Amino acid sequence: MTRPVRACIDLSALQHNLSLARQAAPDSRIMAVIKANAYGHGAVPVARALKQADAFAVASIDEALLLREAGVQRPLLLLQGVFSADELEAAANYDLQVAVHVREQIEWLEQSRISTPLHVWLKVDTGMHRLGVPADYAATALDRLEKLVERRGGSIRLMSHLACADIPDNPANDAQLAVFQALPARGLERSLANSAALLSRPDMCFDWVRPGIMLYGASPFDVDVAQPVKLQAAMNFESQLITVHPRKQGESIGYGQTWKCPVDMPIGVVATGYGDGYPRQAPAGMPVLVNGKIAPLVGRVSMDTLYVDLRNQPGAVSGDSVQLWGSCLPVEAVAARAGTISYELFCGVSPRVPREYVNG
Ligand SMILES: *Cc1c(COP(=O)(O)O)cnc(C)c1O
Repeated sequence: MTRPVRACIDLSALQHNLSLARQAAPDSRIMAVIKANAYGHGAVPVARALKQADAFAVASIDEALLLREAGVQRPLLLLQGVFSADELEAAANYDLQVAVHVREQIEWLEQSRISTPLHVWLKVDTGMHRLGVPADYAATALDRLEKLVERRGGSIRLMSHLACADIPDNPANDAQLAVFQALPARGLERSLANSAALLSRPDMCFDWVRPGIMLYGASPFDVDVAQPVKLQAAMNFESQLITVHPRKQGESIGYGQTWKCPVDMPIGVVATGYGDGYPRQAPAGMPVLVNGKIAPLVGRVSMDTLYVDLRNQPGAVSGDSVQLWGSCLPVEAVAARAGTISYELFCGVSPRVPREYVNG
């Protein structure tokens, strides 16, 4: 038997979450964000499962080519556009839509001799101050892009990204919306909402919404915001106990001997560690499920293993099932206790962890 660790991906959960996005934004088209290998879930199988999406978004040509080579034919947007003029040719060959967030990218397009239709999204900075042309440059940028599209054919759309959508009552959201609405729209299709805005702000849904994290079943909101819909976890990060030892009171566990048994007790060793993407900074007491019941983490997480306190389950034995996060243990809870967010935990599930797909 191989090392017992895997990320089991429930394809029907992805579809369920997409249908919730549809219900929440019934008048918008959906661009499913599958960058970073679909947040660690596997871009190609996720794209195949989400064939009801109207388009997909990725971060780079490499990510896009994997999808095209696997036969994914949906419209596909490069969220950051191209990183150099020579990437424009690949983008054209593979029929990719490109974001334009900075003037150089417009110059590259103007200098290029490519004549195929150009599908471009002008990304405007409305207050996040990450990527995007300044709002007061949008009209000029649109003039320049319109000339290109007159020559080549194609389309122009407008997009922006929100800094604080995970906290719906943060005033920055309305401020960004006001800047976005004041842009010269020229009848173009527009897109502003990520998962959090899609679920909390119907007035931000416009023509296209761009959900990412909600499709994978994790809440896009800050920990204190109530869930408006019932998302289903798509990833079950699973392992097994590979040994169980009775330990004596006072014996220490693992690297640094940081944790000592307060009483005689059974300690389980799980075949998952930070080399698999389990967060090393997870503190003692972090919930881990053994046979569906909580067995708190103890000691430091190693590269290939972690330890659990089995006092609640004295009958647990090697081979028993472990869930690190998933349908029975919300990833958000694990992330919060590890001082991070679900996005980072998903993206961190390492390549050595096999992805298995169910309910396809
Ligand atoms: C990653 C990303 C999204 C998706 O955000 P979620 O919070 O995962 O829904 C949407 N738009 C852009 C521009 C992004 O970079």
